[in-house]
Amino acid sequence: MYENLLPRFLRYVKTETRSDETSQTTPSTQTQVDFAHVLKKELEELGLSDVFYNEKNGFVIGTLPSNTEKKVRSIGFIAHMDTADFNAVGVNPQIIENYDGESTIILDSNEQYTLNIKDFPNLKNYKDHTLITTDGSTLLGADDKAGIAEIMTAMEILIKNPMIPHGEIKVAFGPDEEIGVGADKFDVEQFNVDFAYTVDGGPLGELQYETFSAAQATISIQGKNVHPGTAKDTMINALQLAIDFHNQLPADEVPEKTEGYEGFFHLLVLNGNPEEATMSYIIRDHDREKFAARKAKIMEIQENLNRRFDHPRVKVTMYDQYYNMREVIEKDMSIVELAKQAMMELAIEPVIEPVRGGTDGSKISYLGIPTPNLFAGGENMHGRFEFVSLQVMEKAVDVIVKIAELNTNS
Ligand SMILES: [Zn+2]
Repeated sequence: MYENLLPRFLRYVKTETRSDETSQTTPSTQTQVDFAHVLKKELEELGLSDVFYNEKNGFVIGTLPSNTEKKVRSIGFIAHMDTADFNAVGVNPQIIENYDGESTIILDSNEQYTLNIKDFPNLKNYKDHTLITTDGSTLLGADDKAGIAEIMTAMEILIKNPMIPHGEIKVAFGPDEEIGVGADKFDVEQFNVDFAYTVDGGPLGELQYETFSAAQATISIQGKNVHPGTAKDTMINALQLAIDFHNQLPADEVPEKTEGYEGFFHLLVLNGNPEEATMSYIIRDHDREKFAARKAKIMEIQENLNRRFDHPRVKVTMYDQYYNMREVIEKDMSIVELAKQAMMELAIEPVIEPVRGGTDGSKISYLGIPTPNLFAGGENMHGRFEFVSLQVMEKAVDVIVKIAELNTNS
């Protein structure tokens, strides 16, 4: 039943599709366009209908028509084609069968990089599993090619097993998730489903419907540089203003000191000289009011600092990036319940935790399609230590099939 899952996954990860933040095109890289066409062909060969590539937003979409007389809600499954900001040229997956759950896995021939229990205690969860790792020189790209392979395989299973009832299902594979812009141009009119899931989470059981709300602030500071020997009461050092700005933020509300539902201000960029300086922050919180308070704090500091001078020297430019999808999804928790029930029927313990980040679903939910996130299986994503278990990928396929089936009971 899963015979095509592993070959499919290996084929995808060997195809380089890294996104590029500096690019102005959609998708950001040609390799993603090429991969989209490969996926389009594969969806057609599997027998999905209305398969097309939308060149405006870089999404490949396909439809599996309903096979039941019942009127049931339509479901979407979404995964992303691009890989994170790490070498992805020449991905050479290693397959470790029947992993014993404790021994050290050597990734590269120089034995410089290893997966070991001390650094990665999560390896213990994979006794008797088949693990797919890197060769130490690249990332793996299970994020999110595991998601694509799982959705593709679930569609294959539904097509080959017509006795499994399901309503209309749409699948979408999109670009540029890792650079945070992929879903900005998502076309909800075209992907016209009642609700959807991204298949882009981590280990077995992950089910996520809360994300951060997110903003970015850029602070431009204009100083007044004079000779330091005669600077008394004249010089305004832009770097000192930047330090003062930062010191007015709560020192403990930073990524390295927060977890769970705790939000933060993260100083990303600090550049400058006495004449001028620039700072850039990302602002994150799950709670909408606390999120608003954080943004107000940034504006308040701007006012405080500017009050020292006869004309403003600190200028904040701030914009919202995405919002916590919970506000949308809470209106109809049956979508989360459906995924939970599917997992429970498959003896998978649902692991429901807030995401300390965003997903494509954060944006798509606000565009009108409630879209929680399901596990895809990857561990240690975005680097050379990334790996995935074949058995967990099979479970993810099962969950997709089971969601489609259980949805016909509602
Ligand atoms: Zn991802």
